[in-house]
Amino acid sequence: MALFATVTAEVECPRCGVASSADWQFYLGAVGDMPHYAVGDVLRWEGTRRQTYGSPEWHEVIAVGYMAGSEWCGSCRHPHALADIHVRENRIERVTFRSFEPWIPETLFVGPERKPV
Ligand SMILES: [Zn+2]
Repeated sequence: MALFATVTAEVECPRCGVASSADWQFYLGAVGDMPHYAVGDVLRWEGTRRQTYGSPEWHEVIAVGYMAGSEWCGSCRHPHALADIHVRENRIERVTFRSFEPWIPETLFVGPERKPV
């Protein structure tokens, strides 16, 4: 079973304009105990190297958030979405809509710190 972190956040649907809360799974920081964050929380980095993604020394990074569950938007019932999880100085600043794709192959982070899986 893959390990990941989760953040619960409201994200506005660009199709209908309604904000829906969802759990967004992402790969940054320590994931060994599958931490669950809220916006504003500081990422944890304890754990073995095999159980961490990225680096705590990155100042600013966007982690790709993969929606948990099978339905995201509570209004137009779009089945899936990706979110951008904006992390600055290890703090989750905000979560915004990225795309309606179900996933981005081989990408965990985007922007200047983009790294392949
Ligand atoms: Zn919608």
